Amino acid sequence: MKKIAVLTSGGDSPGMNAAIRAVVRKAIYHDIEVYGVYQGYMGLINDNIKKLELGSVGDIIQRGGTFLYSARCPEFKEKEVREKAIENLEKRGIEGLVVIGGDGSYRGAQRLSEEAKNLKTIGVPGTIDNDINGTDFTIGFDTALNTILDAVDKIRDTASSHERTFIIEVMGRDAGDLALWSGLAAGAETILVPEGTSDIKEIAEKIQQGMDRGKKHSIIVCAEGVMTGHQCGEELKKYINIDTRVSCLGHIQRGGTPTGMDRVLASRLGGYAVELLMQNESAKAVGIKQNQLTCTPFDDIFSAKHNFDFKMYELANQLSI
Ligand code: ATP
Repeated sequence: MKKIAVLTSGGDSPGMNAAIRAVVRKAIYHDIEVYGVYQGYMGLINDNIKKLELGSVGDIIQRGGTFLYSARCPEFKEKEVREKAIENLEKRGIEGLVVIGGDGSYRGAQRLSEEAKNLKTIGVPGTIDNDINGTDFTIGFDTALNTILDAVDKIRDTASSHERTFIIEVMGRDAGDLALWSGLAAGAETILVPEGTSDIKEIAEKIQQGMDRGKKHSIIVCAEGVMTGHQCGEELKKYINIDTRVSCLGHIQRGGTPTGMDRVLASRLGGYAVELLMQNESAKAVGIKQNQLTCTPFDDIFSAKHNFDFKMYELANQLSI
C-alpha cells in the first residue's frame, strides 16, 4: 500500500485530531503517502482532498474538534454519488481509506470497499456517544464524560444552596452510556437511560422518599434518548410537588480539549488502522476491548446490539438510594 486517505465524518468528537495525527504519522513512518479529505464524505465527492505532511498534523493532538472538518452527507447513500467519490480516490491512486466517525460513517466506508475495485477501508470509532459495537470505548467519550461532570458538580453547588431538583439532559443518542457514567460519577440520585426503566411515577416516589428523609436536593441525569429534560420535569410534576430546574448541556459536551485517555486511545486506534491497511485488511473497524486493540468486520458491528453495562446500571441504582 503506497497511498492512503483519512477523513472524519458524522458528529465531531474530542480526540479526532489525535487520531488523524496518528494515521498521518504512522503512515509516513512506513513510507506511505497520506491524503486528508476535508468535510467527510462531502469532500470525497467534491474532490476536497489534499496531501498531508508530518507538519500538517503538528500542534493538533491537544485540540478538540477535527481540523479536517466533519459533515453529514445524506446523498452519500446513493450509488451514483459514491461513484464520483471512488473516481476522486482512484485518480490519485489511493488504495486505503481510514474513516473516523460513528457507525453511520462505517456504512459509507463499507459501501466504498464493496464498490471500488481497489480500495480497502478501516473505521475508527469517533463519537462521544460510546454507542459503537466492537469497542469498549469510542474516541471522545471520556472527554465528554468529564465535561458533563464538571457541569454537574457546578450545578450541584447551586442545587444544594437553593434546595432544588435539577434535571440534567445529556447527549448519547439512543445509548445511555454518557448518562450512566456521568450519573454514577456525579453521584446523581436518578439516572434515566433508554436501556433502563423510565417509570416516572417510580422515580417521583424515590425522590419523595429522599425528601421525607430530609434530602434537600436531587440531581437527575436524563439521557436525550429517553426524553428531553423539560419533558422529564413536566412528567415528574404529575406525581410530586417539587421545584425543578432543567439544564440541557447541549453541544458543550462535544467540544473541548481531549483528555489524556482520549488522546492515547485515539493515537493507538489511528496507528492500528494504518497497520491493518498495510496488512490488506478491509471493511473492518478498530476498537479496544479490555485494553487490547481489536478489529471487527463492519457486518458484525451492524448486526449486534450496543453493549450496555447493566451491572453498572444496577450498581448506580444501588448507590443512589
Ligand atoms: P454520530 O455517531 O456522531 O452521529 P455517524 O457516523 O453515525 O456519527 P451519521 O450521520 O449516521 O453519523 O453518518 C455520517 C455520514 O455517513 C452520513 O452523513 C453519510 O454521508 C454516511 N452514511 C451514513 N449511512 C450511510 C449508508 N447507509 N450508506 C452510505 N453512507 C452512509
